[in-house]
This record gives sequence, C-alpha cells and structure tokens, in this order.
Amino acid sequence: DGVKALKVDDTPLPKSKNLDVLSEYEKSKGKKSASFVVVGHVDAGKSTLMGRLLLDLNVVDQRTIERYRKEAEQMGKSSFALAWVLDQRTEERSRGVTIDIATNRFETESTSFTILDAPGHRDFIPNMIAGASQADFAILVIDASTGSFESGLKGQTREHSLLIRSMGVSRVIVAVNKLDTVGWSQERFDEITHQVSGFLSATGFQLKNISFVPVSGLLGDNLVNKSTDPAASWYTGETMIKELENSEPMTRALDKPLRLTISEVFRSAQSPLTISGRIDAGSLQAGDALLVQPSGEKAYVKSLELDSEAVDWAVAGQNVVIHLSNIDPIHVRVGDIVCDPKAPVNCIDTFTIKALAFDILMPMQVDVHRGRMWAAGQIVQMPATLDKVKGTILKKNPKIVKPASVARVVVKMSSKVPLEAGQRVVLRSNGDTVAAGLLE
Ligand code: GDP
Repeated sequence: DGVKALKVDDTPLPKSKNLDVLSEYEKSKGKKSASFVVVGHVDAGKSTLMGRLLLDLNVVDQRTIERYRKEAEQMGKSSFALAWVLDQRTEERSRGVTIDIATNRFETESTSFTILDAPGHRDFIPNMIAGASQADFAILVIDASTGSFESGLKGQTREHSLLIRSMGVSRVIVAVNKLDTVGWSQERFDEITHQVSGFLSATGFQLKNISFVPVSGLLGDNLVNKSTDPAASWYTGETMIKELENSEPMTRALDKPLRLTISEVFRSAQSPLTISGRIDAGSLQAGDALLVQPSGEKAYVKSLELDSEAVDWAVAGQNVVIHLSNIDPIHVRVGDIVCDPKAPVNCIDTFTIKALAFDILMPMQVDVHRGRMWAAGQIVQMPATLDKVKGTILKKNPKIVKPASVARVVVKMSSKVPLEAGQRVVLRSNGDTVAAGLLE
C-alpha cells in the first residue's frame, strides 16, 4: 500500500507528551479563526479594497502608504498606492523564512483572519484553486461603474464564481465596489444585487449565504468605517468587516485522520527539514509519526509552531510549521501530502470525478490541480452526464459534455499522486479551467 519501512537512522525519535489533542483544543478555544479568498474580474478593485481594509484596520501604517503614494505618483499612477500594500507585503514575506508566503493574516477583536491567495498574482487561477479549496468563504468584488459591471459578469466573475462553488465554498460576501463613481446610486446597487443574486443562485449558492455591501475600496467607505458620504446614507446594513466577522467558519474535520498539504519546504534553525501548510483534517502533536505521500516515507514531528510560537499540538484549519526529523529531505516536496501512517492517503493514477464542465469536455489532455499539487493527465472516459440536482444519469457515454453540465469523468494521470474520495480537483487546459469537481 505504498508504506515503506522506517529508514534506519541514528537520530533518536522525538518524545511525545501523548496529549489528547481534541480535548486540549476544546479547553484552549480562543479567538475564532476564518479564512477567505478574494475573487472578481481584473480591475474590479480587489487589491485596492484589501489594501484599504488593512490600512483602516491599522495592519499597515499611513507612512508606508504615503511612501507608496509618492512612488506611484512619480510613475503617474497615484491610485495604485493601495494596491501596492498587498504586493509589498508579499515581497517582504518571500524574504522571510518561517511563514507561508501565500498567507496574509490580520486580526480583529473577535476573529483572526487569513487572506488565502492575495490577489494580484500573475497566474491567478491556480493560486485561487489552492486558496478556494481551503477557504471558509469568499469576497466577490464587483465593479459597479457604468459598463464595467456588465462586462465583468461576462468575464472572470462567472469563472471565479463557478470555481469557488466547485471548490466547496458556500458563503459569499459581494463587495459592490466603486459606488463613488456612480454617486452612490441606490438604484445601481439594487440592480447589481438583483442580477448577481440570480447569477449566484444559478451557480448553486443559497441566497441565505450571500450578502451584499456597497463600498468604495479606494476611499474606504463601508469597509471598516461606515460611509460618511450623505449620498450613501440610504445604506443601513453592516460594514464589510462586520460581514466578515459574522461569517461562520466551516466545520473542521478534527476527528478525521491527519491530512496536510505541504505549501513550503525549507531549512530552519530547528531542523534541516521544516515544512509548512494548513491542516485539512485531523490533528497532530510533537512526537507523532507521519507519512509523506507520494514518497511513502515516514517522518517524525520534532516540534511545531503556530504564528511563529512553539506549540505542543495543532488541529485542522490551522496553518502550521512542522520541524521534521528522521527523514531525508529528498522525499519531501511542495504539494505532497502529510498523513497519518495508520490511515494513509493512497497514491493513484486514475480517478473518477463528478465534474461541472466550464467548457466542452471530450477525451483530451488536461492538467489536474488539487490544492497546490498539479499533474499532467488525460480525460480517458466519460461514463455519463448527470442531472445537476438529483445526480441521476441523463445520458450514458456522451461523445462530448457541454459547458455548465455535470458529468462523471475518468481521468488518468502520467504519474501516481496522493488523491482520495471527497477531495476537489480542477481540470485545466491551455491555461483555462475546463471542469471542476469532487472525487468519487
Ligand atoms: P484588481 O485588478 O481587481 O486588483 O483591481 P485594482 O485594485 O488594481 O484596481 C483597479 C483600478 O480601479 C485602479 O485604478 C484603482 O484605483 C481603481 N479603483 C479600485 N477601487 C476603486 C473605488 O472604490 N473607486 C474608484 N473610483 N476607483 C477604484
């Protein structure tokens, strides 16, 4: 079953405190933690909005912003200053050693937030897939300015909404952005709310899980502070940050066998082999034996860290740094899965998914994405198209599957990768998403 014998090694195994991690977790439960992705059409204002949110929460200081503003002005692009906040943070992070470069965090009084996949990266979709597969909810940014909303709906708004839904995200906060450009027209807001609700519910979101906030990311209206513009006084709902705080994180699979996808591998003072990633399911503690797939090699947890602090244990939903021992670093790569050796994830090269088609599907070459992992593959068979709601078979062995239909699709990959039922994968071809769905 792919589990190899422990590599003989002179290093003594790390000691375990044999804690009952789940009861420790119950006792320690502090601040709520939640994670989200930010999606929307290019230029909808995603980076500006997040930059402004962080500024208004005092996560970044005014001086830093001023510096960006000066630099941006010299380039004749003063409005880019806010968007640079996120880019700059990403750059600073990539020079550090201990933090997952893809995670941006901030805290409010009630909640500790992680922004998965800060927007603005060049090849955005693979990052978004990785982010959305771990997100508790999404912020969908819509450009309310005249004409832009209409072109956005035809553009990436649709692909992003389908993608996040296929990746299991069920709650969406819609930021109806740039309302300053239409004089805070309530009519415009209502029209967009109406159209986007219809569109999102057709994509499979429940209306009770969608909320709309009229905002100006550039000016900061209704993000952390209520708009003081008299033209915006008709809005009596919550601010963006309140909507974020009111969103319940998804239930974590704490009592399941351990699953963690590695997002970083590096050397640290504590160990020649340190990894980081988010625990998707289960829990772990210092001294635990782990299995790394696809190599099938065992490793031990020497020590672990949450937010740069040493801890005894960690549970599903947390981003953890793990110092490993008793394993050769050549067996460990970004995208690998760390699991419980007693209930490991197996490596397979062929799988069946219940897929939502974004494009026409037929026997074809595809790239398979699961979180940060990707592999080359091929659609080898399409046993049936299915009813979207009931899941019953509509047609057996269709020659092609049309966009927006659901089908059972068999994919064969060029190598064995760790995959199991219940995981969500995305199929892409020539840089476009062609399908996404759940492994059967
Ligand atoms: P992204 O591609 O979605 O990350 O979009 P950006 O954050 O880079 O914003 C695109 C452009 O829209 C920039 O020129 C911003 O200054 C502008 N912009 C963003 N938010 C607002 C807003 O609330 N009001 C106005 N007037 N302009 C905005």
